[in-house]
Amino acid sequence: MNSAQRIGIIGAVLFLFASCGSLGNNLNVFTLEDDISLGQQVVAEIESDSSGMVLLDSASNTKVYSYLYAIRDTLLNSGSVTYRTEFPWRIRVIHDDSTLNAFCAPGGYIYFFTGILKFLESEDQLAGVLGHEMGHADLRHSTRQLTKMYGVQTLLGLIAGDRALIKDITGAIIGLSFSRNHEKEADESSVRFLCSTRYSADAGARFFEKISARGGKNPPEILSTHPDPGNRIEAYRQMKLTLGCKGDETFKDRYQETMRFLP
Ligand SMILES: [Zn+2]
Repeated sequence: MNSAQRIGIIGAVLFLFASCGSLGNNLNVFTLEDDISLGQQVVAEIESDSSGMVLLDSASNTKVYSYLYAIRDTLLNSGSVTYRTEFPWRIRVIHDDSTLNAFCAPGGYIYFFTGILKFLESEDQLAGVLGHEMGHADLRHSTRQLTKMYGVQTLLGLIAGDRALIKDITGAIIGLSFSRNHEKEADESSVRFLCSTRYSADAGARFFEKISARGGKNPPEILSTHPDPGNRIEAYRQMKLTLGCKGDETFKDRYQETMRFLP
């Protein structure tokens, strides 16, 4: 089926949903392959020379990358990631100490800015943030949110190779604000992914504690895309209690030792 046919069929499906009055937040007309190919286009844009973003080369930063991938594998092996084998779960680090943020493009393409890696204090905090970002991709929040922002036809046009909007959409993904419900779901994913590990499963909450204690005139980027740290800290703790997660390790020393290798 070509993309014009798909757009036609999806248009018809949308019409049916709309006429049934059930066109809700959670409608996702994209396939898993669409998530991955949209993610690949975003990756190509971020990693192009014109993006202005400098990536840490994985060949010359092996200590940092193999460390991040080991943490990722621990979460992937938790048994709680739905698309564990379907998505690539690729990690890249953007060299920018002034940006306190991390994000995940559709299909499981994860980015950390060096700013957040240097701000975090321990491995469990990093695992908590990683779990949150992986949760957004695993729950396919970004294609849902982008559908709301740009419409189905625009996104399918993009997947079909129309590059006109790719810059715009890449910018949107980096600064994407999810709904409160999606944020709550990603927080819950973080706790679920960490629950069977040796990490303290509510470590994501300590990141929000730390970042809200920082205060100051210029709130970090992650607070503009992740509002209400106060309520979330309590929600993380509750979720950890509900699931009965036992881990309590922080692995602070080895985190700090590895981050010394960052440029
Ligand atoms: Zn989020």
